Amino acid sequence: MQRAGKWKTPRRPAPKKASNTEKDPVGVYCRIRPLGTEDEECCIEMISSTTIQLHAPDGLKANRNGEYKETQYSYKKVFGINTTQMELFGDVAKPLVEDLIHCKNGLLFTYGVTGSGKTYTMTGSPGDGGLLPRALDMLFNSIGPFQAKRFVLKTDDKNGIEIQDQVDALLERQKRDSQQAVPKTPSSRQKPDPEFADMISPEEACKSESIDEDCCYSVFVSYIEIYNNYIYDLLEDAPFDPIRPKWLDGGTPVQNKEFIPLQSKILREDQNHNMYVAGCTEVEVKSTEEAFEVFWKGQKKRRIANTQLNRESSRSHSVFTVKLAQAPLDADGDHILQDKNQVNVSQLCLVDLAGSERTSRTGAEGSRLREAGNINQSLMTLRTCIEVLRENQMCGTNKMVPYRDSKVTHLFKNYFDGEGKVRMIVCVNPKAEDYEETMLVMRFAEMTQEVEVARPVDRPICGLAAGRRHRNQVFKDELSRCLEERGAPYNADGQLLLNQLIESFPPLPACELVDPADDQTLPRLIEVLHKRHCIRQMMMEQFNQTANTLKSVLQQLDGQLSAKETFLHDQQSKLSEKDKVILNQKTEIERLGKKSKTLEYKIDILQKTTDMYEQDKRSLQQELDTQEQRLQKELSERRQMEQRMHGMVTDTRLKWEKECERRVNAKELEMQNKLWVKDEKLKQLKVILTESGSCPTERPEKPERPSRERDRNIAQKWSASPSPLSTVPPVHPTHRRSHSAGGEKWVDHKPPSNLDLDTVMQPIIPNAIKVSTPNEKALSKCHKYVLRHQELASDGEIETKLIKGNVFKTRGGGQAVQFTDIETLKQECPTASRKRRSGSAEGPVQIEDVENRAPTPLTGTSSSHGYQKRRKP
Ligand code: ADP
Ligand code: MG
Repeated sequence: MQRAGKWKTPRRPAPKKASNTEKDPVGVYCRIRPLGTEDEECCIEMISSTTIQLHAPDGLKANRNGEYKETQYSYKKVFGINTTQMELFGDVAKPLVEDLIHCKNGLLFTYGVTGSGKTYTMTGSPGDGGLLPRALDMLFNSIGPFQAKRFVLKTDDKNGIEIQDQVDALLERQKRDSQQAVPKTPSSRQKPDPEFADMISPEEACKSESIDEDCCYSVFVSYIEIYNNYIYDLLEDAPFDPIRPKWLDGGTPVQNKEFIPLQSKILREDQNHNMYVAGCTEVEVKSTEEAFEVFWKGQKKRRIANTQLNRESSRSHSVFTVKLAQAPLDADGDHILQDKNQVNVSQLCLVDLAGSERTSRTGAEGSRLREAGNINQSLMTLRTCIEVLRENQMCGTNKMVPYRDSKVTHLFKNYFDGEGKVRMIVCVNPKAEDYEETMLVMRFAEMTQEVEVARPVDRPICGLAAGRRHRNQVFKDELSRCLEERGAPYNADGQLLLNQLIESFPPLPACELVDPADDQTLPRLIEVLHKRHCIRQMMMEQFNQTANTLKSVLQQLDGQLSAKETFLHDQQSKLSEKDKVILNQKTEIERLGKKSKTLEYKIDILQKTTDMYEQDKRSLQQELDTQEQRLQKELSERRQMEQRMHGMVTDTRLKWEKECERRVNAKELEMQNKLWVKDEKLKQLKVILTESGSCPTERPEKPERPSRERDRNIAQKWSASPSPLSTVPPVHPTHRRSHSAGGEKWVDHKPPSNLDLDTVMQPIIPNAIKVSTPNEKALSKCHKYVLRHQELASDGEIETKLIKGNVFKTRGGGQAVQFTDIETLKQECPTASRKRRSGSAEGPVQIEDVENRAPTPLTGTSSSHGYQKRRKP
């Protein structure tokens, strides 16, 4: 995030959001702590490595009528109660440390209610170090041998890094060492703070395998606390300022004279738009232990402040920042490249957030409640920011994210707006009392993972060939080996060598000239000097020889080096080609992955559609079956019904036939009765007539009313013997042919009601006077009378009866007709009845010529005429 250099230096193009389109969602992990010993009910169940289920506690269920359901939440990974700190570190924090070493920023925070294990997860406990000590350990294990000397890389006051030259750095080191009694070197490993002892067991130590060895590294740590929306530097050694005591918590009185309250800090934005705490202490540390010690110092300060100022520790956020500066080595691989624009800086923020529970839970009062409200406010702001970010990203909106509303969100603004990797561990305590708060935490955490953060890009590597440090080391080793071979200990102390050399020269004789005639001293001196000169010559020669050898060795090495360099170059170009191929294949794999996902999705949809159709088909089939069954049932019912109806029709027909027969019989009887009545009347009339016209005769016996049985008897009687009417004046029956053949005159009486019966044979009576109503005039002129009488026969046919009679004069001067016989004319259909057909086999029309041998004389008065009909036997 932080780029090297002060604001005056030309700014390197910052890798801002526009340049990077790849995004990763915020990684949200969930850690479930074990139930406390006094807690009995557990409301969380881990149902898979990514999903947990929340059960409403029993009491709550009962209170709310069971309206609380089980809810499930899914995260990138869920860590159960048996997860070790090491496992958690491996999954969550190790990749962030790797990123840190590769110049990428990371943010890791723990979130949850108080007592859910945030601090345990972040810091750990003695013997069981959390993510923070493990991250430091991994960092130092990785960069250990490649660290720059202290104070060579220095933080400036604008969130940048400066390079200090070797001499200044040395001077500063000496100054510091003289100030501090205990040197802060890796030697302090021998006496660590007891509270941090054995935080990480040696077998759990891990390191990054891909460290850039051509860089020098420096680690700076800072530790701040945000309480009540004020930022405090926990590593500050600030003296108490009596003039402007800007105390903690807006004026809480200092209770202990020894305690010097911290001054709150402000946030600033650097030239790369990263937020930093202005004037915050950044301590350069060279080992895990030293870093622990600094952390612990801050922790102590925090604890003291909490006690002294009566604060609620669970309401503060703590941010421990590890800043890593890496400066490339120069071309020789011996010293740091003196170009601060080449210094890369990355940082990892480890945040232990305040308890996320609502204020009401803690039962805080007064100013503490206000403070709590503020702290709650900062978590609220965090939630709001996440929500707005999510909405902006999902709906394409461009709402303002209220980072500035709280210090916590403001400080981490660039992680969300710029780039970096953000991970969150939601800590949960499965106890029943936390259920409702935990549910809120879970929801927020689930939502958080929908927010995406730009993936940090790889930093451009400096233009120098790789492997410089290694080459330099090889060169140094080789040189010392060669010198050793030639008997020149490379590492021997220079002064000692010089002394030895000086000692190897012949000692100078005493050269004091006392006597002018001394002729020995000078020649002795000359001799010694000569000797010395010779030795020097020899040494010079040897030196030249050695130098030449060295030169040739150097040339040789150079040749080797350049060969190796070309080889390396080749390898590098091959590597980059392979890289390209890999990249292409990765894109291809990604493309195919996407395609397969789409296809899977389509298959899924098709599968669902098929299922739906199949279900439809099944239900239709079922319906069809039911319909068929119903149809069958209806058919059989109809058949039954038909049979029943058939039976009923036959029954009804039989019944009606019987009924008809009965009615016909009844009608017949009725008609016979009527006929009888008429007969009776006629008889009575005849009696009257006879009485008035002749001597009174005996009154005939009153005939009996006809009945079927009797009818038959009567008919038999009538056909066998004369009727009781034979007492009336005798009628002389004559043969009708003789009568019709004679020249007698006829009155042919055809009532107008008679129908024309289209018969072939018609009575033809010559010399007949045709009348429709008989009158005396016609009767007086004729001797014979015939009445054409039509009636319905029992078989339904019309039969015509020709009732014939003689006309004679009465004593009173009137006319009377005595009926003598009846001819019956009848037409029959041959197919009407078998009986009839058999009886009329000779022709379709048969005229029955019936002669009644029981003539009934009938006399009429002059004013009236009568006739007597005879029933056909
Ligand atoms: P927080 O910081 O969320 O308020 P702490 O980290 O202080 O919670 O945890 C409260 C207590 O629970 C501590 O005593 C801690 O040792 C214990 N604890 C938390 N998480 C675990 C865990 N995963 N395993 C064992 N003990 C835990
Ligand atoms: Mg805590």
